[in-house]
Amino acid sequence: MNVRRVVMSGLATLCLLVLPAGELLAQQDFETTEIAEGVFQFRWRGHNGFFVDTPQGVIAIDPISVEAAAQYAEEIRKALPGKSLVAVGYSHDHADHATGALALTSEFGGNVPIIAHENAIPKIMATGNADLPVPTLTFSDRMVMSPGRTVEFHYLGRNHSDNSMVVYVPDVKVAFVVDFASNDRVGFRELPDYHFPEFFTSLSRLLELDFETVVFGHGPAGDRAAVQRQIRYYDDLRTAVSHAVDEGLTEDQAAERISLPEYASWSQYEAWLPLNVRAIYRWIAGQ
Ligand SMILES: [Zn+2]
Repeated sequence: MNVRRVVMSGLATLCLLVLPAGELLAQQDFETTEIAEGVFQFRWRGHNGFFVDTPQGVIAIDPISVEAAAQYAEEIRKALPGKSLVAVGYSHDHADHATGALALTSEFGGNVPIIAHENAIPKIMATGNADLPVPTLTFSDRMVMSPGRTVEFHYLGRNHSDNSMVVYVPDVKVAFVVDFASNDRVGFRELPDYHFPEFFTSLSRLLELDFETVVFGHGPAGDRAAVQRQIRYYDDLRTAVSHAVDEGLTEDQAAERISLPEYASWSQYEAWLPLNVRAIYRWIAGQ
């Protein structure tokens, strides 16, 4: 894994003795890590944003929330002093990643484009959420920005949403992938807003990108092998549930009986595997 250094951390060890406990906890809420030259992960609690330095300014993906975005702006300033913002982007329309763009852009005083996949527009308009402004620069399959450094935006089909956008920085081979894959973690609960069977194709298509490092929307960054493990997990899950349906098990029985011991060490395995089983069961049984 190619994580170069933590640029600044919310946890300042030397302050432990002098800060009251509440303040210490607040400081642990965020962390910015330089993943590769000029490519950063901004972690806010359990969510990750992603920003890229280019000669003309910074492209920042996923403001996360109004509160996070204010800190996000500060982290960009600390990592890249004097840089302006050239664009903001949404990995997908879900509010826990996309909220807060104006809190981010206002800190840079700029009216910059908001990039997203075109399918995000109707979803976001329907929310009527003033803190989740509608994207202003959209694409259908692929878009390339070249503000002195190439940054690519890819749509790999419907997966965890119908508008998931993968950001790829080819000169350092780093991708940003949110919610439809993660690093040794099972899927989120009952896989809400997932699209089957397109999800499986879309996940596999990630390997068409020549990335070496991948920053995820939650949890630690990974590499190609992490994505290959995700593909294998969902294939194994689908196979196990198919067998359960073929054997005449009910959804409750499948959720109770299916185990995938190879993944038992993964994050959320105990809590969410049965819920993943239920989601796949409903899809297969409903076909
Ligand atoms: Zn999501």
